[in-house]
Amino acid sequence: MTENTSPAPGAAFADGTADEPMLRVEDLHHSYGAGAATVHALRGVSFVVRRGELVALKGRSGSGKTTLLHLIGGLDSPRSGRVVVGRTDLSALSGSELLELRRDRIGFVFQSFGLIPILTAAENVGVPLRLRRAEPREREERVALLLALVGLAGHETQRPAELSGGQQQRVAIARALANRPALLLADEPTGQLDAATGLAVMELLRAVVRSEGVTALVATHDPHLLGLADRVLELSDGVVVEDEARTVRDPGSR
Ligand code: ADP
Ligand code: MG
Repeated sequence: MTENTSPAPGAAFADGTADEPMLRVEDLHHSYGAGAATVHALRGVSFVVRRGELVALKGRSGSGKTTLLHLIGGLDSPRSGRVVVGRTDLSALSGSELLELRRDRIGFVFQSFGLIPILTAAENVGVPLRLRRAEPREREERVALLLALVGLAGHETQRPAELSGGQQQRVAIARALANRPALLLADEPTGQLDAATGLAVMELLRAVVRSEGVTALVATHDPHLLGLADRVLELSDGVVVEDEARTVRDPGSR
């Protein structure tokens, strides 16, 4: 342990050992509204994700993908069932602990990028590091490394409006990785991009899952992107109807 480094992000949350799953979803049920207007968005979803796995979540619009990602990321609480990230049962956390888990252990990527318009690319990536009060030097080094990782070295001082959609999503991916999350959750990250840019962004996600050792769950309804996942889970009407392991083509050996 060196003196000048900040505590590891989310050190309070035990990830468990390498052979334990990174994510366990147990019989999740969720609904919106009440009475006759109740919508049953999830109707008993269970699965386990290994460390380092890239899981694609497919299913039509309305099948429950966003709801599932929100429950896994602690943005909403299920009506019943459990989400366990590492060794942390989300239902056992207080509001402030959940906030801390979301900040330090989970990275989110949204279809709409979600960058802060007045901040530069580097400042956007640095936001999660500032939130956990990382040392400025550590923050600057991590931001530079992440921007290089997503292919945006040299774009540090550009604001979102000065970047293409694909570049903005790369910034958002770098930001999501800032605190070395245990879990990366992406909700249709290529939904606003053209096909070629979307494929490049998905290939980037594939590469960072390997290089950063993160575990990722990516909702997409683009069939071309499913081939890059280790595994495809299909949701239909709030239940898992297919769970299929893929043999992933190694991008290094084409
Ligand atoms: P997907 O992301 O696969 O399109 P969602 O999780 O967004 O699916 O939606 C699942 C179901 O829940 C749909 O029937 C949707 O209309 C409904 N739903 C989602 N969010 C809300 C909400 N905030 N209020 C009411 N119904 C919702
Ligand atoms: Mg959705």
